Amino acid sequence: MILTRFILLFSLLSALVLAVTYPIYAQYYQGLQDRILANEETSVVAASQMIQKEMYEQVHLIAMIADAAPVLDYVTHGRAEQRVALETFFSNVSTNFHRFDQIRLLDNSGYELVRVNLNDSKGNIVPQSELQNKSQRYYFTEAKELADNQLFVSRLDLNMENGQIELPHKPMLRFSTPILDRNGERAGVLVLNYLAEGMLKSFRRQMSRRVDQQGMLIDAKGYWLSNHERSNEWGADLGRAEHTFARMYPEVWSEISAADSGIIATDKGLFRFQSIKPFNFSGSQHAHFKADHYPLFASQSVANTDWKLVIFIPNELIQSRSFLYQPLGQALVALVLCLLAGASLAMAIITNQKQARSREQKELNEVLSDLYDNAPCGYHSLDANAHFIRINQTELDWLGYTREEVLGQPFIAFLTPNSQVRFQEFFDALKTEKQIENVVLEMQCKDGATFYVSSSATAQNDQSGDFAVARTSVFDITDRILLEKKLETLANIDALTNISNRRHFYEGATLELKRALRYQHPLAILMFDIDHFKRVNDTYGHDGGDAVLKQLASTVHSSLRDLDVFARFGGEEFIVLLPEISPEQVALVAERLRQKVAELQINLPSGETASITISIGVAMLTPDDKLLEHLIKKADLALYQAKEQGRNRVVEYNA
Ligand code: GH3
Ligand code: MG
Ligand code: MG
Repeated sequence: MILTRFILLFSLLSALVLAVTYPIYAQYYQGLQDRILANEETSVVAASQMIQKEMYEQVHLIAMIADAAPVLDYVTHGRAEQRVALETFFSNVSTNFHRFDQIRLLDNSGYELVRVNLNDSKGNIVPQSELQNKSQRYYFTEAKELADNQLFVSRLDLNMENGQIELPHKPMLRFSTPILDRNGERAGVLVLNYLAEGMLKSFRRQMSRRVDQQGMLIDAKGYWLSNHERSNEWGADLGRAEHTFARMYPEVWSEISAADSGIIATDKGLFRFQSIKPFNFSGSQHAHFKADHYPLFASQSVANTDWKLVIFIPNELIQSRSFLYQPLGQALVALVLCLLAGASLAMAIITNQKQARSREQKELNEVLSDLYDNAPCGYHSLDANAHFIRINQTELDWLGYTREEVLGQPFIAFLTPNSQVRFQEFFDALKTEKQIENVVLEMQCKDGATFYVSSSATAQNDQSGDFAVARTSVFDITDRILLEKKLETLANIDALTNISNRRHFYEGATLELKRALRYQHPLAILMFDIDHFKRVNDTYGHDGGDAVLKQLASTVHSSLRDLDVFARFGGEEFIVLLPEISPEQVALVAERLRQKVAELQINLPSGETASITISIGVAMLTPDDKLLEHLIKKADLALYQAKEQGRNRVVEYNA
């Protein structure tokens, strides 16, 4: 994991650094090449000037010989002593200049008139008997074609002796020029075999001082006249056609042969080439080459000596000069690589740790969100307007809605009307109290069912300190509430008759009395008791008595107003509180009740029918009555009187 990341980062960073540094290095490398090439220019100029100077000297020497008196005397008069003088002259030139392998004078038919060979550093006169006819040799035929003052130069090649290449090799240039007698008539041809070994040696010595000690001189056909690999030389003469520069570097050669000078970059290195035209002195700056002394050359001579100086600078040599190949440069590269590796490793570790942390965080979030959604209680958050901004799955399940249906909706839309009022109070209070606990609300499900929750909320403020969110937990307490309601009912309701019991009556009646006293509204109490109920029990049994009590209670209840408070006061004694009623109305209500009960035909469990009467005591609230007890007492007294007066009647309390 870390390793792959490291490799990736390292490659990326390296590519980046390379992209930035490569153009800089390329420029630096170009500069390096230019500097090395600039140094080479000295060798190029020195070598070409050396060759030109050597040739210049030879052609002027030849011109001097051609014009020399011994030559003119002999070709004009042909006397024996003149011939001896010419032989001596040739011999002196040969010995002293030490340049010419042969110096010859040929007559107009190509026959050798005088010949001196350079043997053992001495000019030796060849006896007349050994002179030969050279009329078919090119140096003669070429010279015959020349104008009077022209000079022929041969190709530079190895000397042949009796059809064999002379050993050791004898590189040779042949010069020939027509000779005129003192009358200006063509009298023959002067032929000089120039020994080029000295010039080539100088060339090699100059090249050996070069940066890679290599340099070459190539003829017009691409054969080496000089090469640091000596075995490559003279391919044309030795019959080694493959030993040509043209064969080894065809593309480079085609460029070199087409131009006078230039630089050619190849994948192996740089070639710097320069044409050397040894007899073209016109472009030369050399002080010795005087303009009016230029000899004239036939075009064939120029072509014969169209040489190229080529030097090669291998890439390895340029690279070895580069600072990257120096210890300091390599240390720098190593340092940069180490830094890159270190940075990549650090980044790999950091990103790895980051990823591990975010994975842990994600797992933790999943656990938390699972806890939130599937907690045994409901959770929701409301915004400042009490609209849902979050709700957990448990609460959604209770409500029967999807999350989409709930989010953004007002919370009160999911409450019963009573709870809506309570919630509004609770929500307003939360803004100041910050925390409110156990508020009971009744919530409404999608299917219309309701359930009770105990709700606790915490206020969350925004950055400016204003109330922003209410985080609320809700517990389903429906079971508890229903139980409480049941207990309350049990505590208030008389189990036999299903109307309020005495305790519940006191609760309701006390409130009504307070209100009546405060607003000075009228209020009355009726108390009634079944007449001779013992007899009912005796006649129909206790169950019959119970049935009578039930029927009586429901009949009375149905004939009272909603605001009246009706209760079983004890045994077969009942009480009614009638608010907002005048004394006249009370009398009428009581009388109507008495009559209704008296007319009642009560069906008993035994199938029999029973009828009963009741006696009623009535008491009106007076300003003296501060306590409920007083009023009840007065009604009780009136009831007692009704019994006394014969039962089945209504008696109003009268002080
Ligand atoms: P009076 O006309 O003087 O009221 O005569 P009475 O027989 O009704 O006398 P009293 O009010 O003293 O009698 C009450 C009787 O009511 C006594 C009791 O046995 C009977 N009783 C009280 N509570 C119940 C009850 O819950 N069920 C039945 N079946 N009888 C009850
Ligand atoms: Mg009684
Ligand atoms: Mg009674």
